[in-house]
Amino acid sequence: MAAYEYETHEYDVVVVGAGGAGLRATLGMAEQGLRTACVTKVFPTRSHTVAAQGGIAASLSNMGPDNWQWHMYDTVKGSDWLGDTDAMEYLAREAPKAVYELEHYGVPFSRTEEGKIYQRPFGGHTTEFGDGPPVQRTCAAADRTGHAILHTLYGQSLKNNAEFYVEYFAIDLIMSDDGECQGVVCWKLDDGTMHVFNAKMVVLATGGYGRAFFSATSAHTCTGDGGGMVARAGLALQDMEFVQFHPTGIYGSGCLITEGARGEGGYLVNSEGERFMERYAPQYKDLAPRDYVSRSMTMEIREGRGVGDEKDHIYLHLDHLPAEALAERLPGISESAKIFAGVDVNKEPIPVLPTVHYNMGGIPTNYWGEVLNPTAKDPTAVVPGLMAVGEAGCASVHGANRLGSNSLIDLVVFGRAAAIRAGKIVDAESANPVLNQPSVDKAFDRFDGLRNAKGTVPTAELRLEMQKTMQADAAVFRTAKTLKEGVEKMTKVAAKMDDLAVTDRSLVWNSDLMETMELANLMPNALATIHGAEAREESRGAHAHEDFPKRDDKKWRVHTVSRVDGNKVDLTYRPVITDPLTTETEGGISLKKIAPKARTF
Ligand SMILES: Cc1cc2nc3c(=O)[nH]c(=O)nc-3n(C[C@H](O)[C@H](O)[C@H](O)COP(=O)(O)OP(=O)(O)OC[C@H]3O[C@@H](n4cnc5c(N)ncnc54)[C@H](O)[C@@H]3O)c2cc1C
Repeated sequence: MAAYEYETHEYDVVVVGAGGAGLRATLGMAEQGLRTACVTKVFPTRSHTVAAQGGIAASLSNMGPDNWQWHMYDTVKGSDWLGDTDAMEYLAREAPKAVYELEHYGVPFSRTEEGKIYQRPFGGHTTEFGDGPPVQRTCAAADRTGHAILHTLYGQSLKNNAEFYVEYFAIDLIMSDDGECQGVVCWKLDDGTMHVFNAKMVVLATGGYGRAFFSATSAHTCTGDGGGMVARAGLALQDMEFVQFHPTGIYGSGCLITEGARGEGGYLVNSEGERFMERYAPQYKDLAPRDYVSRSMTMEIREGRGVGDEKDHIYLHLDHLPAEALAERLPGISESAKIFAGVDVNKEPIPVLPTVHYNMGGIPTNYWGEVLNPTAKDPTAVVPGLMAVGEAGCASVHGANRLGSNSLIDLVVFGRAAAIRAGKIVDAESANPVLNQPSVDKAFDRFDGLRNAKGTVPTAELRLEMQKTMQADAAVFRTAKTLKEGVEKMTKVAAKMDDLAVTDRSLVWNSDLMETMELANLMPNALATIHGAEAREESRGAHAHEDFPKRDDKKWRVHTVSRVDGNKVDLTYRPVITDPLTTETEGGISLKKIAPKARTF
């Protein structure tokens, strides 16, 4: 057994992650007087949420008629009928409250002439239950909305005495023998000390795992650490085959050009100068949802109408828009286009390509953020002491495809919901659970094993192999053949985890070891993704299967539940929740309105 000395910290709640979801949860917990620690591997305001540009959806009706029922309908349809209806209602209903709270906390939203929060159009957000014109629902702070939210929530959390443990890397969950979460084991990156956090509630808010792919808009820190920890604890991941490709990553770098660019009037053209989205989505054109636009772009390229020497990308035009509008509404992306594509958006189109952007799948939870227990007979049973929120979680509101600006609202609505729930079930007066020592030891043993890995494959090499495999075989277009090959290749790639070579054995600022820990987390996420995709013989949302081009609600309107052990994946399925929280007579949405139908735009 590896002997590491450690310091123990006791809290009511420990939140792992300081992105939008983690900070909103932390703030909500601390406001209620719960002793709250927030552990984060990067400085809070460097979390990937800081990069969110376009905005946050809520039916405030500041720019025209809107209501939560329309927002809910768009979310249901956007999810391609795979989202859980209760959670989607909760999201749409609570969204305005959550945004006004942000406003009162101090988020500097862009304003209309009358001083109201400015809202822009975004793909898939409509009026009249999808029958009316696009709606302006996405609240924005120019094109730096995530930045504004993150800084505000961090300041408010400090004000409410939440305690931050910055540059602490969470290694593994501490679980009791009967399946209760009791805390988390952490490694302090800058001095190499070890820390055990003992808490009555652990909230995973570790973000997505975009870095399982070669080209992603997400930060290099988005390595699915929460999913890795959960998989190792024998718990489940859900709907991992649904990976969102954003239509407009800058060609080459993958850096994001927000959908807000099309919201403000930008459009896509092919090598013939044609605005091809008019053909694929006659009603909403460039503002169709992301899976739709990404697939259309990929079709154009495959049919030989891509732009550039290799005919392998598409142009995004903003040059017809007034220079003042670009400077005011899209200053950040104008700068990104200059730096990453050498393009002056006032004069030339930006070369773009669909790029991995968001993980719809994650740790399954109910709409309070409580993690579901995959082995219990009762499908609503939860894992005591464990919550998951934000991109790491799967409530599930995005189902098979997330609408733009619905993630930021997911972060704050469910971060807030987790805090409301914890306020009810965490007893500040009671004693903390007695730590299960074997579980603590197991975490240190695994850490020590990786630290002393003496195999032949360097971490960076294996990571690249994984990323290239996922990019080649689990991208926008999927066939039975590529997916089968992908599963075989990924099984071999994952087996090489036993042959890793870590060269630096130090505990202080050892980036080699940290990246190895991250790779160990990416791997189960990637495996669950490709196995889930191979098994799902239909096309739904972001999962477009060439051999099964139709959605099959009879067989496949179910959540994929995957459990990963080493390089083996076990798949089971769980029904989608089809009942909303309220009935039509209570002011809710009618079941007829949200019944599955063909998804066209
Ligand atoms: C470029 C870009 C633009 C986007 N724009 C929009 C937009 O305009 N609107 C929208 O709705 N959505 C947008 N999205 C999506 C949205 O921003 C993300 O889904 C969301 O920010 C994720 O937030 P999070 O709080 O779940 O995680 P993150 O913000 O990714 O934060 C994760 C946190 O977990 C911590 N962490 C992770 N692992 C560990 C560990 N092992 N130990 C300790 N700490 C750990 C990290 O330090 C970090 O603090 C965008 C995404 C990208 C990539």
